[in-house]
Formats: sequence, structure tokens, C-alpha cells
Amino acid sequence: AATSAATLTRLDQWPGLVNADGQRWHYLDSAATAQKPKVVIDAVTRALGADYATVHRGVYTRSAEMTLGYEAARRRVAALIGGAEHELVFTRGATEAINLVAQSWGLANLKHGDRVLLSQLEHHSNIVPWQLIQDRTGIAIDVCPLTEDGRIDLDAAERILTPAHKLVALAHVSNVLGSVLDAKRAVALAHGVGAKILLDGCQAVARLPVDVASLGCDFYAFSAHKLYGPTGIGALWAKAEILDGMQPWQGGGSMIDRVSFERTTWAPAPQRFEAGTPAIVEAIGFGVAAEFVAGIGLESIHAHEAALVRQARAELGRFNSVRLFGPDDSAGIVSFAIDGVHPHDLGTILDEENVAIRAGHHCAQPLMEHLGVPATARASFGIYSDESDIAALVRGIERTMRIFG
Ligand code: PMP
Repeated sequence: AATSAATLTRLDQWPGLVNADGQRWHYLDSAATAQKPKVVIDAVTRALGADYATVHRGVYTRSAEMTLGYEAARRRVAALIGGAEHELVFTRGATEAINLVAQSWGLANLKHGDRVLLSQLEHHSNIVPWQLIQDRTGIAIDVCPLTEDGRIDLDAAERILTPAHKLVALAHVSNVLGSVLDAKRAVALAHGVGAKILLDGCQAVARLPVDVASLGCDFYAFSAHKLYGPTGIGALWAKAEILDGMQPWQGGGSMIDRVSFERTTWAPAPQRFEAGTPAIVEAIGFGVAAEFVAGIGLESIHAHEAALVRQARAELGRFNSVRLFGPDDSAGIVSFAIDGVHPHDLGTILDEENVAIRAGHHCAQPLMEHLGVPATARASFGIYSDESDIAALVRGIERTMRIFG
């Protein structure tokens, strides 16, 4: 059911948006991590309290119920991205999801002479795991350049890709620029040369309708905490035929079929990749968050954030000394720099004004190098963001400019 914009921004639904003095906190750092709706907080409280027990092991009712809850969460999270539950592995987050692909699929399928294509705007978590594999195997890493307005340049990707490329790994939405990848075309290009494709969906899942089935990608990685769920949990979705063929990368309880000192056999996917007692409570919260977001509808979340981006870019664009990065149709994220003002100073002054932005390299140092800046200021929106947040940002920028003359 569609929820109206008024309901989305009701402060009583978002305890994290209220300051100690009872005022609205102008939280513009949702791309780093999103605030949590009350339904998620309540679900986590229940899972940690009245419903708490382990999963998969107990013979008692509470544990059996918790196991059902944990698997229902897997179903809900998979459904959000159009995937099947047996294709969805719970991980610690997007970072661990990408490392899982690198360490399990990568080490088994990449060898000296093979090539991997990344892009200039990737988050460090979609660069470093591949460099670790490079150190072990001698693969080559190619970097796809960006268009003038900050999109991954797929015309360039088409020219770069060869049959030596075994993997393409790209951000579905940039965490710095908000630019949206033409994921369908990227999948076609990768598959055209016989490469697999991983999409880093960390920013996309909370901002766009995502359907892995229609995209046709091979791997999709994301974190719960950017999707209005808890920290400490995320997911890797992978096509069943690929996941079923992958070896475990961590060993322990829950991921085995039978263990003996002579021979140990693995559980089927996805359990094979979930060694140890899982993040049960976090998984429950993740499932509720996925259902919450699905209930509002990603089409309407996307429209809500697109309107805020248009307004923010228009208002910031009025200042001569403000340089805006990224495309006008950015998904919920506006990165900018002010001549003569370090983003950290801006962030500090805005904090005094009750406005939270992110200032820094955003774990994307190669992108900062490309933009020619050490850091950017970044305002990012969420379901709960509204015009008052932009007005407070603009007031804070005006004050900063007065201070810096
Ligand atoms: N990729 C992108 C595009 C991101 O924005 C982030 C988080 N900033 C990550 C990967 C890593 O996510 P996490 O730290 O939750 O594992």
C-alpha cells in the first residue's frame, strides 16, 4: 500500500530524527547509514527480548519459531530485489558480500591473465577485495572511466571489454555522485564477452526499484543499515547455478552437512556460506525493513528523493562559489564543494546548525582523484527527508560563507 509523504516524514515514526531538545535533526547522511523506522526498532526489541532464542539447533518451540522468523526474513529480503530465498546469503554487510564473491568465486575462477573491470567511482569495498585477489592470482584490473557528468561510461566499457574479462563489478548507484548505472546495458556488455557481473547495490536498494531477475546480473550485494535496517547484516544475492557451484569461504557450525576428520561435506547454499551462529536479531530487523520499504514502494521513494535532489541542486546552484558534482538525475545524493571552504569546516559549522552532512572522501579515493578534490561535502536523502532539511542546509551554507568571507 502506498504511504503518503506526510506519513513518511512523521517524526514519531523515526526516533533517530529527534534531537535531545525535541527538535527535528536535519539528518542528511542517509547514504552513510539510514535512520530506523519504529517498526524496525520494535521488531529488533522483540527479537532480542520476548522472542529471543537461537536458530537451526533448538528442539524447543521458541527456537523453532525463531528459525521460521529468520528464514522469513531471508524470503522478505530476497523478495525486495526480485530474487529467490535460496539465492540469498546473509552476510555482515555489502563489504562482506563482495569479499565472499572475491574469495569464493574469484579464487576458483580467476587466474593469471584474466581481467576484471571496475570503474573510477567504486567504493573501496568494490576495489580492495579484487586487489587482494590480484595479489594471489595475478589478474589485471581495468578501470572504466566516467562521463563528464559522473556516470560510468558504458561506451568506454564496451571498448575496454574483451574475452579476457571474467568479471565486471560496478556500483549500481554511486555513493558520492548518486549517478545511476544503466545496469541492463552493463549486464549485456559483460555477458557479451562471457564475463560475470556483480552489482554493488548498497545505495541502489534503498533508492530505486531493483529486480535482479529482469536485470539478469550474476551477483548483487547490499547492506541492511542503508535500507532502514540494523547494522551488522547485509546480503549477497547470486544466481542459483553460480552459488550452488561455489565453495565455502569460512568454515564452522551450520555450514556443514557432515563433519569427520576423514571427510567433511557442505550444506547446500545459502547455509554453506553462513558459518557460525548468524546475526539472528539483525536478520529479523532486516526482513522488517525490507517489508517496510516494499510497503511504501521504491517508485515513490525514488520520486520523493528525486524531487529533493532537484530542489537541493537548484538552491545550491545559486551560489557562485558552489561546485556541484554528479548528474541532475542523481538518486538521492548531492555532492558539492565550496571554493575556499574545506568540507570538514562546512560540516562542523552545519553541525552547530543542527544539520548533519558527510565530509570526506566517502571511501572513494580514486573518484576524489578524478574530481581533483581531496574531499567533497555530501548531502544525502532518505524516506524521511523533506524541504526543511534543504532549507536548513542552505541557511548553514550562507552562514559558513559569511564566516569565511
Ligand atoms: N558500496 C557502496 C556504494 C556503499 O555506499 C557502501 C557503504 N558506504 C558500501 C559499498 C559498503 O557498505 P558496508 O560498509 O555497509 O559494508
